[in-house]
Amino acid sequence: MRYRYLINGIVQGVGFRPTVYKIAKKLNLKGFVLNSGGGVVIEIEGENKDKFLDTLKQNLPPLAKIETIKFEKLKEKNYSSFEIRYSKNTQKTTSISPDIAVCEECLKEMFDKNNKRYLYPFINCTNCGPRYTIIKDIPYDRKNTSMKKFKMCDECYKEYTNPLNRRYHAEPISCYECGPTLNVKCKMENGKWENISEKLKVKSEKWDELKSDIEKIEFIAKKIKEGKIVAIKGLGGFHLVCDATQKKAVNELRKRKKRPFKPFAMMFKDIETIKKYCFLTKEDEKLITSKEKPIVLVKKKIELNGIAPDIDRYGVFLPYTPVHYLLFEFIDFPIVATSANISDEPIIRDSDELIEKLSSVVDYILDNNRDIINACDDSVVQSIGEEYITMRCARGYAPLNVKCKMKNEKLKILGVGANQKNTISLAFKNKVILSPHIGDLGTIGSLEYFERTIKTFRRLYDFNEDIIICDKHPLYESTKWALKQQKKIFQIQHHFAHALAVMFEYDLKGDFLAFIFDGTGYGDDGHIWGGEVFIVNRNNFKRIHHFREFKLIGGEKAIKNPSNMAVSLLDEEFAKNFKNYTLAKNLKKATFPLTSSMGRIFDMIAFLGGMIERNEWEGMSGLLVEKYYNSSIKEYIDFEIDKEIDFFPILNFAAKHKGDFELISSVLINSIINVIKKISKNYDLPIILGGGVFQNKTLLSLCKERLKNVYFNKKIPLIDAGVSVGQIAWGIWNNI
Ligand code: ZN
Ligand code: FE
Repeated sequence: MRYRYLINGIVQGVGFRPTVYKIAKKLNLKGFVLNSGGGVVIEIEGENKDKFLDTLKQNLPPLAKIETIKFEKLKEKNYSSFEIRYSKNTQKTTSISPDIAVCEECLKEMFDKNNKRYLYPFINCTNCGPRYTIIKDIPYDRKNTSMKKFKMCDECYKEYTNPLNRRYHAEPISCYECGPTLNVKCKMENGKWENISEKLKVKSEKWDELKSDIEKIEFIAKKIKEGKIVAIKGLGGFHLVCDATQKKAVNELRKRKKRPFKPFAMMFKDIETIKKYCFLTKEDEKLITSKEKPIVLVKKKIELNGIAPDIDRYGVFLPYTPVHYLLFEFIDFPIVATSANISDEPIIRDSDELIEKLSSVVDYILDNNRDIINACDDSVVQSIGEEYITMRCARGYAPLNVKCKMKNEKLKILGVGANQKNTISLAFKNKVILSPHIGDLGTIGSLEYFERTIKTFRRLYDFNEDIIICDKHPLYESTKWALKQQKKIFQIQHHFAHALAVMFEYDLKGDFLAFIFDGTGYGDDGHIWGGEVFIVNRNNFKRIHHFREFKLIGGEKAIKNPSNMAVSLLDEEFAKNFKNYTLAKNLKKATFPLTSSMGRIFDMIAFLGGMIERNEWEGMSGLLVEKYYNSSIKEYIDFEIDKEIDFFPILNFAAKHKGDFELISSVLINSIINVIKKISKNYDLPIILGGGVFQNKTLLSLCKERLKNVYFNKKIPLIDAGVSVGQIAWGIWNNI
């Protein structure tokens, strides 16, 4: 008897075939394994064939995931051996793996004096290393990556072609003989940049025997210790780095980068060091040490000056490339590691661009000659009890691959997302692919990145959309782009898309009560929505309640400066205590768009309560409210709920209790929870929570605790970065 399996899932480019090969050899089975367009085909014969599937399931390579297995019993063919076969026509639509942090086995080799890759800064294997960021075209083969220019040496080639080796078909495989190298660039006194790598090759007793790059890393570490600002090339772009414990260095970075307040992420040598500086929950620790190595938002224990002013959170992460690990051999303090970019622009991925744009920010660059083809930022996540939410889906997670059922399998849909925190999504052949985080489309640089990502995804997935779905906002750059294409277009309301993204993640059907609390989004009535209560299903939505509308005084500028808008809404007796009272009163008469945005409500309360003068960076007021929330304060304001939810009393409350941050923050959160509870009592429906305001850990945790049947996005970002998925979901579920 011969067994034939057809296995689907993430089973290509993750070391699946070698694992099958090893197991077959061990069990003395004959037959073959083959990558085909329809998945991995395995045929086996031999006495132990019944043991095969269980053994395979117990020994799956870490990145592999089996989704379906088709099984057949066939007539014996009497194979004489077991082999890995190669398909003639490689399918163009195999999925592309995200980049993965360097694995334990590679690290062990890297720190082993007798290994040929001892201290080698580009060590990787089938289970780890760059993927998406080095791919130019498919299939995922070395010749289609930026590793093409490095010709494999004989020894690497042996590993690459040996199915029993853990680097079998690891496309970025390399070593000192044949791989990329590091180089150090330094800004000279005349402002010109020079490659000083040769000069660093001093004979050091420690590294004498090696052809290693280690002296370059040692040099950069020394500069960081001296308080310099350096740029280090990672997987998907450059980080700006300095000693996080040196106040002067951190302030200098803030000054040069013109970023006075916004928190910086920090990289730590290991989890123990993180625990010295932060309070971690079990879930935090799990996220930080996961193979994706995202930035995790955690609670501060020790205040480091200038890292995250005012708030009680740090964004922390662990090393994820060999270079990071080697760097931490020389330093024992946390480092600032923030994306190298000009504010709001995409992360910089080559040193020429870095020098052009950030020459005045950095002193030294640790560069290398393995090109980054596709930029990819660090991911950002946050734990919510035993679960987590994704704020930025990028390195380690994206391109994110989600299975789905399409009504029309031949249809190819492109969702182009929102304007802030943009991402794009593709749908084809029963799957949805979410791009890495693109960012705010407010600059030419980010718009280029948006268009480049669309081109890249069309090429990598052999994709040409029949339909484009975009937002309704006529001024969103993504909408403008979509409307210029000669394609069939659908426009989906922003907050409906947020709700659909949740339904998509859990494959939900039927009616739901959706609370979408957000920054801003274009409403069907031309007003700016953002504090919405909908009844939604896969096809449409009904707006049953919304927060009371107010004039968005200052338009877009109100986001940074909520003062006039806030004071204009106060009762006279409170308003007159504010110095902008007269101005606010006059501006109230001018024409401004109406909004029900919950994000702006948070800003106004933070301002009126005295927590902020201005909203220095997006999300600041939300994080302050979280910081000051005190669970022992049970007080709340019972807002009147009609079609409109009248929250105005809490504005007066904040003004009246100005300075009592704990009281104001707690009453705000409690009152919102009360609204959600009250409304949900009137409807016997499961609840969806969506929109940027739910990044608020306190608010989301309390909702989870106090409400039944609650759904919110976890893997898919619950902020605007998830909107492209919601758009796609609508396309998949509706007969278009
Ligand atoms: Zn590895
Ligand atoms: Fe939104």
